[in-house]
Amino acid sequence: MSYVDEVYNYVVEKNPAQPEFHQAVREVLDSLRVVIEANEEEYRKEALLERLVTPERVILFRIPWVDDKGQVQVNNGFRVQFNSAIGPYKGGLRFHPSVNLGIIKFLGFEQIFKNSLTGLPIGGGKGGSDFDPKGKSDREVMAFCQSFMTELYRHIGADTDVPAGDIGVGGREIGYLFGQYKRIRDTYEGVLTGKGLTYGGSLARTEATGYGLLYLTNALLKANGMDIKGKTIAVSGAGNVAIYAIQKAQQLGAKPVTCSDSTGWIYDPEGIDVALLKEVKEVKRARLSEYAAARSSAEYHEKKNGEHGVWTIKCDIALPCATQNELDLEDAKALVANGVTAVCEGANMPTTIDATEYFQKNKVLFVGGKAANAGGVATSALEMSQNSERLHWTFEEVDSKLQGIMENIFANIDSAAKKYGQEGNYVAGANIAGFLKVAEAMKAQGVV
Ligand code: NDP
Repeated sequence: MSYVDEVYNYVVEKNPAQPEFHQAVREVLDSLRVVIEANEEEYRKEALLERLVTPERVILFRIPWVDDKGQVQVNNGFRVQFNSAIGPYKGGLRFHPSVNLGIIKFLGFEQIFKNSLTGLPIGGGKGGSDFDPKGKSDREVMAFCQSFMTELYRHIGADTDVPAGDIGVGGREIGYLFGQYKRIRDTYEGVLTGKGLTYGGSLARTEATGYGLLYLTNALLKANGMDIKGKTIAVSGAGNVAIYAIQKAQQLGAKPVTCSDSTGWIYDPEGIDVALLKEVKEVKRARLSEYAAARSSAEYHEKKNGEHGVWTIKCDIALPCATQNELDLEDAKALVANGVTAVCEGANMPTTIDATEYFQKNKVLFVGGKAANAGGVATSALEMSQNSERLHWTFEEVDSKLQGIMENIFANIDSAAKKYGQEGNYVAGANIAGFLKVAEAMKAQGVV
């Protein structure tokens, strides 16, 4: 059996009932075959892959808090410090009822390669809780965040592990988490990113993942002789990534016509009204049905089981920006039948492996989340730099660095794919380019 297959079996055996983690490992290892096989003896002797798929540290903790009725609630907390070969652990916190250890491990594993691709000195980690901020009062969210940080503070620090936001963790949650860290540690340091602008946040961090996704999509189209101007785009999600992807797509002259949340989706053939979308999702924290109620050109569809929502709409480009495994083989077939030319992942692992293969077989340009959504963490690293310098850069400065980083990522994954004989396979290119740097650093640092 090849070393890659041995290690995959090892992961399945050692991590039972964690299908998303198995899926993320499979996707990476499969595309690394060519590199691993060329160095098999050395990697095997050093157990490099076994070390790579095993987190350096996993922290599991209890989060008790009191709700508005005086009832004590208990949630589970997680922080997976996956790999620090190239820098302090860096990766978001997710608050969503679906969160479990397997999901956090899948996200932490992906983060290692994504962070490496940015070219910045950040290792991979991820964390979160099965707490659901939806429908909770501000006081309840604060009580939860304070309790979460009362345990987490002892494991993180500006040079150790720097968490950020993810699904369910936005500016409000980061503020409460930062406040509690500072209170316990009595230290004002850049221990979290995604902070508010009045207390160490970076301009353009809020926009970064969505904007970065479009900078990369633009570079991808250009390299393949196309122009983003005038293209119709289907977007899923209506959160941080989706909103700013839609905004930047419009600024680049494209027309995004869909968005979705966990209860339904919108088709707006006139193009999504970003100001209205922000009002509904960011200010009122309401359902998308309110968007349709306020805009006559928009259709609202309740999400039904078995219905494939935004991916049934005819588009040139698809940008999945909601959550994992939201675009399956049936969706991929519908998109290809409707003539899609490019798919770039704003979310983490939104496309199932068979759907990815279907796109690749049908010559659809496909860039996975590790490369396509790396703008968020890259800008988080820029926030860390500003915190260390105790300086603030302008929006334009950060945005132009972000654009440069995304164009560079595209150039690197494109050339890694070519170098290893897989031209146009940007998934392989991203995994290879991300892996090589981490592997080199791990080897140099000995058996740790
Ligand atoms: P948000 O919480 O801001 O938004 C998530 C959006 O997806 C919401 O519209 C939400 O609907 C919808 N959604 C979440 N879970 C589900 C589900 N199970 N089924 C259907 N819809 C769902 O998160 P972000 O925009 O920050 O993150 C989106 C994706 O991008 C995630 O995969 C995240 O890991 C990834 N990502 C985020 C980065 C960032 O900087 N924010 C960086 C890199 C990747 P509703 O409004 O109903 O909750």
